Amino acid sequence: MNESTLVAPAIPFLDLGVTNREIKNDVLEDVAALIDAGEFINGRAVSEFEEAFARYCGTTFAVGAASGLDALRLALLATGIDDGDEVIVPANTFVATLEAVTQAGGRPIVVDMSDDDWNMDVARAEAAVSARTRFIMPVHLYGQLADMRALQEIARRHRLALIEDACQAHGAERDGVRAGASGLAAGFSFYPGKNLGAFGDAGALVTNDEPLAEIARALREHGQRAKYVHDREGYTARLDTIQALVLLKKLARLDEWNRERTMIALQYLHGLAGVGDLELPPVASYSSSAWHLFVVRTCDPTRLMDFLRERGIGAGRHYPVPVHLTGAYAHLGYEVGDFPNAEGHAQRVLSLPIYPGMSPRQTDAVIAAVRSFFDRG
Ligand SMILES: *Cc1c(COP(=O)(O)O)cnc(C)c1O
Repeated sequence: MNESTLVAPAIPFLDLGVTNREIKNDVLEDVAALIDAGEFINGRAVSEFEEAFARYCGTTFAVGAASGLDALRLALLATGIDDGDEVIVPANTFVATLEAVTQAGGRPIVVDMSDDDWNMDVARAEAAVSARTRFIMPVHLYGQLADMRALQEIARRHRLALIEDACQAHGAERDGVRAGASGLAAGFSFYPGKNLGAFGDAGALVTNDEPLAEIARALREHGQRAKYVHDREGYTARLDTIQALVLLKKLARLDEWNRERTMIALQYLHGLAGVGDLELPPVASYSSSAWHLFVVRTCDPTRLMDFLRERGIGAGRHYPVPVHLTGAYAHLGYEVGDFPNAEGHAQRVLSLPIYPGMSPRQTDAVIAAVRSFFDRG
């Protein structure tokens, strides 16, 4: 046998090729037509996508934005955040959650995660409410919804605005209610690697609140309510028309792609149960995850990651440092030990490959490699 036949083909951490190839030719045709029409800014595809995405999420409005960060920031600004308003956020999230808060003038109040669902601990969130708190911003991390029923209760009790960071949860749902539909507003990212990803940066906020949507629409475009009517200072944070064309094509396939992710996740949950010291992702009874990431916990994730990489299997860590311990947020004054669940979590997480187009055989190969790591000790 030839040496090369012994080498299993590589399994990347993320392969966008399958999904992109499905829509490539359609997109190229639409982009050619767009170039002829010259509708680069606020073209028809933007409002078409906004309508389709609002319908998908089960909200009345969607407002396209240039990124997920812009969507979250505009949601806070359009709600009327004032300088120094406190916004409760989880410690285990991507830095953009906090960027949105500080860049909108707010102060992030970090709370620990729950080990039950790996999302914001709702009891700790309520305990963190002060006289200055105006917002609560849960993150549906890895695609699993935070406990939105409990958070809605807390928001109602304390008169807080509930803004969802749904950047990892396109299509996740609970009792038929999708991510983005149970707060005052939500921000989504269409960064290429997200469940719904553009061919570049893009995002959107969704809401049922018409004034909020109108203000966000003005803010994303130099504060213009109408051409050269500037009631407030704004930004350049529009959704690009070319990206809207891509997103329209992809949105039509999102449910199918999310189902593929779910099948892979189920295969992992079955194949990795009881292996070594692995802790598998909790599946909350109330949530149907979008499975943006498949994250396991183990005592030495870096060794397992290196082991997999040596065998051509991609893996990543989301995220190795909890936000309160990053240099960017040192000024908030948090210390090691403040959020033990999130800190322990960050030390132990490892993300395995999961993407539409990943075959059951590839998933089995990842499972076999993980098992052999623990078999060898
Ligand atoms: C990706 C992401 C964002 C930001 O999205 P961008 O489009 O990169 O600005 C915000 N929050 C979370 C949790 C994310 O995963």
